[in-house]
Amino acid sequence: MALNRVEIDLSAVGHNFREAKRLAEPETAVFPVVKSDAYGHGLIPVAQALQEQGADGFFVSIMEEAVTLRQAGIWTPIILHLPESKRDAFEIVEFNISPVVYDFGLIDALSRESQNRDRVAGIYIKVDTGMGRLGVSITDLPAILSYVRGKEGIKVLGLMSHLSCADNSNDRGYTLSQVEHFNEAINIGRDLGFELSQNHIANSAGLMAYPAARMNLVRPGIMIYGAYPGKDMQDVAALRPAMTFKSKVIQVKKVPAGASISYGRRHVTPEAKTIAVVPVGYDAGYSRSISNRGEVLIRRKRAPVLGTVCMCLTMIDVSHIKGVAVDDEVVIFGRQGDQVISVDEVADWAGTISYDLLCAVGSRNSRLTVNP
Ligand SMILES: *Cc1c(COP(=O)(O)O)cnc(C)c1O
Repeated sequence: MALNRVEIDLSAVGHNFREAKRLAEPETAVFPVVKSDAYGHGLIPVAQALQEQGADGFFVSIMEEAVTLRQAGIWTPIILHLPESKRDAFEIVEFNISPVVYDFGLIDALSRESQNRDRVAGIYIKVDTGMGRLGVSITDLPAILSYVRGKEGIKVLGLMSHLSCADNSNDRGYTLSQVEHFNEAINIGRDLGFELSQNHIANSAGLMAYPAARMNLVRPGIMIYGAYPGKDMQDVAALRPAMTFKSKVIQVKKVPAGASISYGRRHVTPEAKTIAVVPVGYDAGYSRSISNRGEVLIRRKRAPVLGTVCMCLTMIDVSHIKGVAVDDEVVIFGRQGDQVISVDEVADWAGTISYDLLCAVGSRNSRLTVNP
């Protein structure tokens, strides 16, 4: 077995989904975001657990993920965020996937493909309401809608947009203005005769903090995995972290005062210490920025990282913990007994966000699914 291990608690995923469902209006469809291997948690087991819990559909980034879901027996609707115009039209029709459309390229190919097979492809048009990323401007929306209207075999299911700072409670005005622009876009579409029955703009933060953003469909990602999108959202839902990251002690040693620890001598012991060597490093997603800053759990106690985090090794000060021995479990983030180190804490030490850490750790270590 590998020295490091990621445990995925599927019962936590199910619980978090039920929390998302509880926040959504009864008529609001919940489409969990399972892009990037379900944020490092494993696409297939996570999607199967969510389908069992009644997920109304799924949101993925790339075609490969959509096909993987279909081949694993996921039969609910799937929204594909980043279709590749020239390549994906056939599979979109073949596997009944709903792509997000933001330019004319895909429309022609899709129309041809669905007419060939006597089917209708449902699409969402992406409108940029202030994210400053993918999508057409509200000004260009009538042109793309009119273009689609002239094409057989395509049905516009609704519009979609994305919020840029719903996690930031100090900038509520911006999020509310994005929702307002989105409603404007929906009205423009309806005035042109489109029904637009399924419109969506809310990510986890939108779902948790902006009732007006919920509409008919929501796309929660991070909350499904048990991390909060914003620091002040703890009261809105009781989330359970789904990922635990564990390693183990491979050497314990005593060093005298004045000993240099790890590359660059960035820690020199002020007194005699007991050091545990742990085989986790930045190749496993444990960022080098955590050097001299982070903590881990050993024997149900917090213990600080000493010196530079290496590619495959990190040194831990265990002077205050009795009896630390080779093979002791080390929890990098997650729970050990009554102690917890959250992924958000580790992300803070690393100078990043939980999303980044979950993807990195989940994709680089062997994963074990627990509580299916
Ligand atoms: C990743 C993503 C989401 C999910 O965001 P969370 O903050 O993880 O809830 C929703 N919509 C789009 C377009 C995304 O790219």
